[in-house]
Amino acid sequence: MTDSVNTVEVRCPVGPRKLFTKLKLGEEFATYVADSNLIEFTCRDCAKALSRASGETVRVFHRFNFAGELVETVRQPYAGAE
Ligand SMILES: [Zn+2]
Repeated sequence: MTDSVNTVEVRCPVGPRKLFTKLKLGEEFATYVADSNLIEFTCRDCAKALSRASGETVRVFHRFNFAGELVETVRQPYAGAE
């Protein structure tokens, strides 16, 4: 398949492979990590799974570069309602 627009799908690296977004080259994003050129997505699926496994409520963020490649996964203690 050939697409004239360079599109990259960004998905959760774990579990059901939830689709976060489709990146288009040159597009700007509201959510990105300052100073590192990464895009960050909260993942409810991973948060749910990790919280269940560890017994503590955590939030999970997947961080991708602008090529749609996973760079790191960050977990943080859940600090109140979103
Ligand atoms: Zn995930």
